[in-house]
Amino acid sequence: MLQIKCVGHQFEREIGFIAALFYEDPAIHYVQDWENCSHQDIKIELCCESQADGVHATGHLLFADQKHTFEYDRPYKELSEKDMRKTAKQAISYTLLTLLERHTGVEQGWGILTGIRPTKLLHKMLQSGLSREEAHRQLREDYMVRPHKLQLLQEIVDRQLHVVPDLYQIDREVSVYIGIPFCPTKCAYCTFPAYAIGVHRRNVNPFLAGLHEEIRSIGDWLTRQDLVITSIYFGGGTPTSITADELDELFVTLYKHFPHMDKVRELTVEAGRPDTITPDKIEIMKKWKVDRISINPQSFTQETLQAIGRHHTVEETVDKYKLAMEMGLTNINMDLIIGLPNEGMQEMKHSLQEVEKLMPTSLTVHTLSFKRASEMTQNKERYQVASREEILSMMQETEEWAKKQGYVPYYLYRQKNILGNLENVGYALQDQDSIYNIVMMEEVQTVLGLGCGAVSKLMRPGSGVLSRWPNPKDPKTYNDTYKQLIEKKLQDLDALYSDK
Ligand code: SF4
Repeated sequence: MLQIKCVGHQFEREIGFIAALFYEDPAIHYVQDWENCSHQDIKIELCCESQADGVHATGHLLFADQKHTFEYDRPYKELSEKDMRKTAKQAISYTLLTLLERHTGVEQGWGILTGIRPTKLLHKMLQSGLSREEAHRQLREDYMVRPHKLQLLQEIVDRQLHVVPDLYQIDREVSVYIGIPFCPTKCAYCTFPAYAIGVHRRNVNPFLAGLHEEIRSIGDWLTRQDLVITSIYFGGGTPTSITADELDELFVTLYKHFPHMDKVRELTVEAGRPDTITPDKIEIMKKWKVDRISINPQSFTQETLQAIGRHHTVEETVDKYKLAMEMGLTNINMDLIIGLPNEGMQEMKHSLQEVEKLMPTSLTVHTLSFKRASEMTQNKERYQVASREEILSMMQETEEWAKKQGYVPYYLYRQKNILGNLENVGYALQDQDSIYNIVMMEEVQTVLGLGCGAVSKLMRPGSGVLSRWPNPKDPKTYNDTYKQLIEKKLQDLDALYSDK
């Protein structure tokens, strides 16, 4: 148990975030004194003094015969009250992180950065006119980001600006995400809107009727606004769970109603589950000029696929990959997950060796995350996962392997409850990076979400301010409400884009 005494502040939220980097579901108890604490508790006192010219934080950690003390000063000039408070929060986070690093011996590569996309922060700093050196200094000194993560960040930011040179002006265009909420079965770690299609077949037709309607309405709105679409991404679920004819009909509606289809820079279909890929669906995707698909192994160990509820074989992944390549869909992404149940370095290396035989154009490496609503989290005791140290070694192994194979990191994101507090990294071979992944991760333009579980991120051009607009997650609610939903979304879009 962490017994924490706050003096001169009440930054419990920030304290919770930092403690969660070191402990799973940390039990934190806030106290006024140490009277009722036991000798097994970790006692931490965090003091904060904010003055007109700077903030001074002091921290003490006591545990058994260990004692750590840390003092932190951050001078500033003429800050608004809001920024002074933000700086004080950072000072407390910094102090607590240092004490816990010393106590546990665990170094946090991302420092006190939680709840913010690191690449987005660096882009923002550079866009505001800071030099690269000054931005790095701030990330190092104010946020405690360690040099190896800084290097990764800069490499990704450089790469993104190479792939999308107009990234900082791309808010005059929009991207579109289309969510199809069906999969053959539900994976144990999944919290996406993904319903087993066999069980939910009766919901498919009504859902597709609503989706056609939403594509028509949003397409007509885009036409009225004369907006150019940067990228379109079919996700879900697994969009290829529906039949080839159903997929074909969606493209017919899309091409009929969306403006400037010749200017779309990238069209992706997440064909994630190999068991949904058939020659006729590949033909349809080729016919409609799909640029990029995903075929996701997650692991090349058969027992792991079974343990996580993916009812396809390793061979099927390889066969479908080869089939798509032979039929001319050659820009293929693969996803791998580090830290799946019962997997260690040996299984990870095996997966990398198998990927090496195929060399997909891009590879996204996720670190397993225990999302609250997943089957895996709810039955955690059934799943044996690797230690933090092993996860870290697997991540390093993957990084080195990717570099050796010519893959370059081009996007990155972190999630809550991710094993080892690491990150998910998208790698791509030269000029095979996904534009959608970049614009979506960096939140630089409106992304219109259509279909189930799709969250629109709306941004008035030039404002830099995002608002979220979620569609219902389950097909039944979507089917019952899509008419009102479309009407309301169009009203909000009109308001946001009036006199743009
Ligand atoms: S294939 Fe993807 S969307 Fe479908 S259940 Fe598995 S993780 Fe979820």
